[in-house]
Amino acid sequence: MKLSTMGNLKPFGPLYENAQKQFLKAADLMELDPNIGNFLLWPQRILEVHFPVVMDDGRVEIFEGYRVQHNTARGPAKGGIRYHPDTNLDEVASLAFWMTWKCAVMNLPYGGGKGGVRVDVTKLSEKELERLSRRFFSEIQMMVGPHKDIPAPDVNTNAKIMAWYMDTYSMNVGYTALGVVTGKPLDLGGSEGRPEATGRGVAITANEACKVLGKDISKATVAIQGFGNVGSYSAKILSEEFGAKVVAVSDVSGGLYNENGLDIDDLIAYRDANKGLIKGYPKAKPITNEELLELDVDILVPAALENAITEKNANNIRAKIIVEGANGPTTPEAEEILIKKGVLIVPDILANAGGVTVSYFEWVQDLQTFFWDIDDIRKKLTKMMVNAFAEVYKTKEKYNTDMRTAAYIVAISRVANAVKERGYYPM
Ligand code: NAD
Repeated sequence: MKLSTMGNLKPFGPLYENAQKQFLKAADLMELDPNIGNFLLWPQRILEVHFPVVMDDGRVEIFEGYRVQHNTARGPAKGGIRYHPDTNLDEVASLAFWMTWKCAVMNLPYGGGKGGVRVDVTKLSEKELERLSRRFFSEIQMMVGPHKDIPAPDVNTNAKIMAWYMDTYSMNVGYTALGVVTGKPLDLGGSEGRPEATGRGVAITANEACKVLGKDISKATVAIQGFGNVGSYSAKILSEEFGAKVVAVSDVSGGLYNENGLDIDDLIAYRDANKGLIKGYPKAKPITNEELLELDVDILVPAALENAITEKNANNIRAKIIVEGANGPTTPEAEEILIKKGVLIVPDILANAGGVTVSYFEWVQDLQTFFWDIDDIRKKLTKMMVNAFAEVYKTKEKYNTDMRTAAYIVAISRVANAVKERGYYPM
C-alpha cells in the first residue's frame, strides 16, 4: 500500500506522516487489505477545544486543547493527556495513533486515544492548574467515560491532575466514576505500581533485548535521556533490580555523567528538592543532552520527547540497544541508519507499554471495585511484557524485519481482525 492511496485526506503534520510511514512499512510486508489499511491510517474522532480559564489576577486566558480517538475497534479509547507549550494536533493525533498499536501489541481490549493542552505549566499557579484541568476535562466530557475513552497521565500531568479529572467528571454525571481515568492516587481507585509501571516495562524489555543478543544486563552500561516519570523509574529499576550501571541521565536542564554509575535514589531526592531538575547535582560531571545520546554505552533509553534521535545524530550513536521509553523518539530516517549499524531498537509501542498495561489493571480494579497488591501487579506486568516481547521477536524473525515493523505486524493483525469481524456499518 502506498501513501498515494490516502485519497483526499491530509496528514496533520510531519510527526503523523512519520507514524504513518512506520505503519505502511508493516502493512506492505504483511500484505494488509488496503481497505482496512486506509481506514486505520486515520483517526476516527478529533475534538479541538478553546476554553477560558480565570487566572489568579482576574484575567481570563483562552487555552487550546485536543482529544483524539484513533481507533476503537477493540474497545474504548485509552491514552494520556499531555500539557506542553508545543503540543499540537499533529502530535496528539500521532500519539493517539501509536496508542492503538501499543494496546494491540499488548493484547489489551482498548483502542488508541490521546489528549493535550497547549500550556506552559511552569507559568501556572496551583489554582490555575486546577481550574485549567477541570475546565478542559469538562470540555472533552462528550468524548470520555469509563466505557468510551479513559485518559491517563502523560508529560506534565500526574496523579493529582487525574484526581481533579475524576472528580470533575463525577460531579458532572452525579456519581463517583473511578474508571474514567487511570493513574489516579491510590486512595481514589489508583493502582499499586502505576507510577513505576512504564519504567518497569522499559527495564523488563531492556533485559529481554539483552537476552536475545546474548548479553548480561548486569554487566551493561545505560544512558537515559529524560528524568521524569519514565526516565527516573527506568533508571531505578534497571540499576536496583537488574544490576545495570546507569552512567548518564539528562533532563531539560542538561545531562550528568558518572562512569562508576549514578546513585539513582540520591539523584531522585536531589531532583525533588530542586524544582524537579537535576542541574547542579554535585556527584557527577555535567554533559549536554547531545553528548548523552552519543555516549559509548550498551543501552540507550530515550525517555523525554519525540524526535530525539534523527538522521543528524543517528550515525554518532554507539549504543547497541535502544529502548524507547518516550513515544516517537526515533525518526524513520534515523531508524534506517541505526538498523544498518546493527542496533536493536525496542520500539515505543512495546517498550513503554508497561504504563498502559498497569492502567488497564487499574481500570479493571475500578470496574470491579476489587484491588490487587503490588506483587500481583508486578507479576502480571512482567508476564505480559515478556510474552509481548517474545511474540514481537518471533514475528521479527519470521518476516526477517526490524522490531518496530514486527510490533506493528502483531498489532495491526489484531486490529484488522477486529475491524473485519465487526464489519463496516452500515453495509
Ligand atoms: P515527565 O514530564 O514526567 O518527564 C519528561 C522528562 O523529559 C523530564 O525530565 C524533562 O525535563 C525531560 N525533557 C523534556 N524536554 C527535554 C529535552 N529537550 N531534552 C532532555 N530531556 C527533556 O514525562 P514522562 O511521563 O516521563 O514521559 C516521557 C515520555 O514517555 C513521553 O514521550 C511520554 O509520552 C512517554 N510515555 C509516558 C508514559 C507514562 O506512563 N508516564 C507511558 C508511556 C509513554
